[in-house]
Amino acid sequence: MRSIAIVGATGSIGRQAVEVVRRHGDKLRLVAAAARSNWEGLWALLREFPLEAVALLDREAAQALQKEVWKEGLSVEVLGGPEGLERVAGWPGAERVLSAAWGSLGLRTTLRALEAGKDVALANKESLVVGGPLVKEALKASGRRLIPVDSEHTALFQILEGRKEEPKALWLTASGGPFLGRHPSSLWKVTVEEALNHPTWRMGARITIDSATLFNKGLEVMEAHHFFDMDYDRIHVVIHPQSYVHSMVEFSDGSFFAHVGMPDMRGAIQYALSYPERWEAPAAYPRPSEWPSFQFLPVDQELFPALSLCYKVGRMGHLAPAVMNGAKEEGVEAFLAGKLALPYIAAVAGAAVKAYTRRDDLLQKPLTVEAVEEAVDFGRSFARFWMQDRSLLKEDML
Ligand code: MG
Repeated sequence: MRSIAIVGATGSIGRQAVEVVRRHGDKLRLVAAAARSNWEGLWALLREFPLEAVALLDREAAQALQKEVWKEGLSVEVLGGPEGLERVAGWPGAERVLSAAWGSLGLRTTLRALEAGKDVALANKESLVVGGPLVKEALKASGRRLIPVDSEHTALFQILEGRKEEPKALWLTASGGPFLGRHPSSLWKVTVEEALNHPTWRMGARITIDSATLFNKGLEVMEAHHFFDMDYDRIHVVIHPQSYVHSMVEFSDGSFFAHVGMPDMRGAIQYALSYPERWEAPAAYPRPSEWPSFQFLPVDQELFPALSLCYKVGRMGHLAPAVMNGAKEEGVEAFLAGKLALPYIAAVAGAAVKAYTRRDDLLQKPLTVEAVEEAVDFGRSFARFWMQDRSLLKEDML
């Protein structure tokens, strides 16, 4: 029996992880869960699982949940604020922690879990994007394992596991999202609804927007750089609209090893919880003769400028990814609120990074969690300022 804690328990990944726990209740025990503000979601989990602790980032939501817990006389610790999330991440009763919060917020969760000696199932790619060197340092000190949840990275992890040869290159696949094949100028007019209509994957709203711009793939390139210690020159992206080939590894003799699976996140989540074992699939899947034909296409760089921005910013390293990600998160939220045209998300992120290169105070800072958070905040406030004055667009593009 493996006991687990989930940070981000009510989001898309968290809910699918709970499905996995339900299905494999003889092997997994959910002991702690945390969410941003959805206290009703945690309350439902409390009714179903014998949780020892729950936490909500939003303190008012934590109070609302505490009231219900008192009313029912349940014995569970209810925690609030960022420190509450960290307590759940380091919960003594949990052996493995699923780090599945969205955005830069996830870095502290991931670090806390490693420091507390947990194996971490990493769904929060931003942990590595904004704080890669910090996570790797904590990982080394802890002697624990980091197991990827992202479908591309679990694919690469499963191909590379136990293999001694050095790969020539990693090939991340991208579905291309809902705007594949469109003319770049048409993206100025797309609606939130169109952008949320992802052709293959069932995901949360924010990551679905990141998929529509290919920012998600760019962040995954950075994630792969840190996870597999691979130079950016040896990480490639190829469009694969069917999303069956989750990623590929190329070796020097011209062989490609591909991981094929269904576009169903439960598979990747389950493997991160079952590793090093494999358990029965979460659903009945089609046989190979029923699969669609596979296509592989180059990325249209003009349609998806976010991807080359991510390579550039990844190579800059230090606090540049944190600044970019902060600005990008602000842009995604503005787009979802109907206040920003889709192409501006990449524009504002690029402009924020350019502004960062003129900020000596940030450039000189040693890389710490606090510095990362400051850089994310800088990116966010730059984006808010920039979005009020869009005339800066051309001049400030990176
Ligand atoms: Mg992915």
